Amino acid sequence: MNKIIKCYMCDRDAISSEHVPPKNLFPELKDVGEDYRKHLITVPSCEIHNSAKSKDDEFLMVSLAGIFGNNSIGYLHKFTKVNRAIRRTSNKLLDKAFAKRKHYNLKSDNGFLEVIWGTPDYARLINCFEHIAYGLHYHHLQKYFKGEVKVLLGYLHSEDESNHNFVQFLKDRAAIDLIDIPHYGANKDIFYYQFSNPDEHGIYMVHMRFYGGIDIYASFLPEDKSKPFNFALELMKVCDETIFTLGDKEYKVKNANKRRNDI
Ligand SMILES: [Zn+2]
Repeated sequence: MNKIIKCYMCDRDAISSEHVPPKNLFPELKDVGEDYRKHLITVPSCEIHNSAKSKDDEFLMVSLAGIFGNNSIGYLHKFTKVNRAIRRTSNKLLDKAFAKRKHYNLKSDNGFLEVIWGTPDYARLINCFEHIAYGLHYHHLQKYFKGEVKVLLGYLHSEDESNHNFVQFLKDRAAIDLIDIPHYGANKDIFYYQFSNPDEHGIYMVHMRFYGGIDIYASFLPEDKSKPFNFALELMKVCDETIFTLGDKEYKVKNANKRRNDI
């Protein structure tokens, strides 16, 4: 009897497979003149998780494209495939990805670049990256993840200095943990990932990088491990301002209640 394969996200039987990250994030050969769709990762998926995904995939593609700091292939992808999708939906896709958006033209080496600035759909982005984190876990570690996943979007710019400092502290801290960890992915200019080793609490993380400049982190707390007391977060609840230090750098972060939440 064949072994029944389960969905990467839930306990239902898998009926198909899906790409992690979504295939549409990888530019097409006809648009960029080079094959960036080599050896894409797929995971088994149930009907529900597969059919829910296509709209999210398009949302994610539009949300990540054209972000300041992306490499040139990322921009090329934006001006070809992504803009075709945006035009096809008469901007509805863009409206979903960014509320209150503004378009800016920034001067760059290749002339002017159109950059979008707006309020992203934060909850939906977190949900998309949670799915990718589960998929990469299944693919890389060859086992299902049961427990709690927490996503940090390291690429969003915040007008609140404290938010900005806190994210920068977490990113710099992660960079130290990941320094000797290999990068995986057959199309590294588009996407690669790294899995950290578990820390003393059994927590580990995946770092995902898109288009050479977008950093996302997801931590995995397995269900058989207890949540550690997070000293830094507890401290921030009571103090007006907390200063984290890492090497010779300092990060000033205001009490969470005093911070603004619009990122
Ligand atoms: Zn499922």
